[in-house]
Amino acid sequence: MQNLPFGAFVVSGCMIVYVIFLGFASYSPTFVPENTYGVYHAIVGKLPKMYQQSETKENISGDTDTSNELEPWDKCVLPKYDVWDDQIIPYVNPDRNPIKDCDTSFKPFTALKNSSWSIVNKNKNLECKARCHSRKSDRANKIGNWSFTPGSVDCEFLEAVCSEDKKEVYGYLHSQVIPKPPIEKPNINTTGLMQFDVFVILLDSLSYSQGKRSLPRTLSYFTNHMDGVIFPYMNKIGENSRPNGVPIWFGKSLEKVDRSLFDEKLIPPDWSHKYFCNTFKDNETSLFSEFHDYGYRTFLAEDWAEGTMNWPNCVGFDKPPIDHFMRLPFQNAYERRNQGAAITQKHLKGGKLCRQTHNTLLDYMGQFTDAYPDQKKFGWMWAIDLGHNSENGFTHADKDFHNYLIKHRKQLENSFVFILGDHGLRFGDVRNTFIGALDVNNPFTGVSIPRILRRTTDILSIMSENAKNIQSHFDTRATILDIMKYQSARSFAETEPYQIPGEKGHSYIRKQPSTPRNCRTMPVPLEYCICQFNKTKIATNTANAEAIGKALALAVNAQIEDGNFADKCIKMEWEKTISLLEYEHKFRGATLYRVTAEMKEPSKAQFRASVKIVDGNIKVLGMVERSNKYGKTADCIKSEHHRPYCYCKNQKN
Ligand SMILES: [Zn+2]
Repeated sequence: MQNLPFGAFVVSGCMIVYVIFLGFASYSPTFVPENTYGVYHAIVGKLPKMYQQSETKENISGDTDTSNELEPWDKCVLPKYDVWDDQIIPYVNPDRNPIKDCDTSFKPFTALKNSSWSIVNKNKNLECKARCHSRKSDRANKIGNWSFTPGSVDCEFLEAVCSEDKKEVYGYLHSQVIPKPPIEKPNINTTGLMQFDVFVILLDSLSYSQGKRSLPRTLSYFTNHMDGVIFPYMNKIGENSRPNGVPIWFGKSLEKVDRSLFDEKLIPPDWSHKYFCNTFKDNETSLFSEFHDYGYRTFLAEDWAEGTMNWPNCVGFDKPPIDHFMRLPFQNAYERRNQGAAITQKHLKGGKLCRQTHNTLLDYMGQFTDAYPDQKKFGWMWAIDLGHNSENGFTHADKDFHNYLIKHRKQLENSFVFILGDHGLRFGDVRNTFIGALDVNNPFTGVSIPRILRRTTDILSIMSENAKNIQSHFDTRATILDIMKYQSARSFAETEPYQIPGEKGHSYIRKQPSTPRNCRTMPVPLEYCICQFNKTKIATNTANAEAIGKALALAVNAQIEDGNFADKCIKMEWEKTISLLEYEHKFRGATLYRVTAEMKEPSKAQFRASVKIVDGNIKVLGMVERSNKYGKTADCIKSEHHRPYCYCKNQKN
């Protein structure tokens, strides 16, 4: 003892205080902005007694469960299959390339660099002009005056148009990131936090198996060079883009979770459609606003003017809490009437330029990735166009994502990089195959962590373990929050599970709780569950099949009446039951079915849902899905939720 210098006591004393403080900080509610979250609805109702000792013995149906066997819903048999199974081959066309005839020698006539625009084409007869676009609202741009003299500009989005002999021959939209001054004092004291940049590449409709088939170069680089871990068993939590994206950004669910199969109460959505759509979200806590509070510069780029927050008629943000926001004004200039010049609005169409909208996102994301060497960054790009409508939309773009990862590898080496899908392909006959039906519920998820943490922490091996289990987008959100707030305070060395207050998911860069992970214990609507259950095909020409099909029609009509659209949309009538699958396992006396039925002319609409029959009563569980295209037949109403159920009485709209 007497040989130890005094300093050692001070250092170890400080360490002990520090560790105690950390322990306190991690569990003390006062460090957590609880009020900013909604009420958290516990997902677990009646767990089997082997998981919950305090659980009452009596169950709802009154009989006593004497077996110790788990119910099928209380475990999760994960889908194991060949992503190149024979059944998927007829749908795969690696030659599809919408820009295969593009002019690879084409170089833009104009350039935007360091806030200055110039004419770089040598043709002396060219007359070029440029103007700035900035955001006025979510649906309109503030458009500057045309300038005919190259030189400095102070905007991030510049439209350039050139003419030859008075005829417009060129239109182009440039982007640049103009850095903002450092955030002097972040709202949260970030002293002592180990902070890393976070970049998310979200590819709309990219499923796990689709990623494996379509992005071999990107994923080879991502898993080999970047040590990225892929999560094959990600489960979506909503039907289309918004109910998957909004829960990650805001932590709020937009769809109900029907638990009636377990005799448990329905969990309503955190945000109703009305609230989501009609109220500006500026004051809601989002990943963007929280990262800003932690001193980050933020970025969002989408290649669709309506975007996740607005389509088809929702208000979105009044003043987006995002430092660099590409959807507006870029997509406004590109897509909306009277925003960009006619020739500009054509420049990415027709495949002449070897450039598509995802390239514009990657350019801007690259500019952001390179910007702010002294500040932390959170960037999110959401590319909708490539894969939304086609099984073969991504393949030709593989090299573009690969190039982004290579070009910016120095920055990305010090970052968390997420490659995500929101859901899988939602349309087409491929959904009638096993893989296609699984894909729609099984979005892609891959995560690369900063190089330094790969050696100094257990995160890689923990992630690989967690990747063997079912996960949901709520777990991805919890992971991003963990990076932002919790692991950052512990040098990313914490391995034990942590329930982030108010959150529905569990971070996968630490161990997750040992509670069984399945669609009963997780906030995943059962109709999207990727866990596998034995089902048998049964006859569709029976009275039972007819009754089930008619129940589906009733459920659809109830949705239309519920939304007050009965005056605009026809009443659906059952025509035939197309497919009927019966679950082998009976659940508390109920028989469970998966049914697809077609409605009578003129709609010919096909719907799919889970249905249970108990004591002769038929009940439709959860969301009814539209399983064939409705195209423009529902254009008379604007509610995103109700359009799949609607066939307009007046088809002229
Ligand atoms: Zn989507």
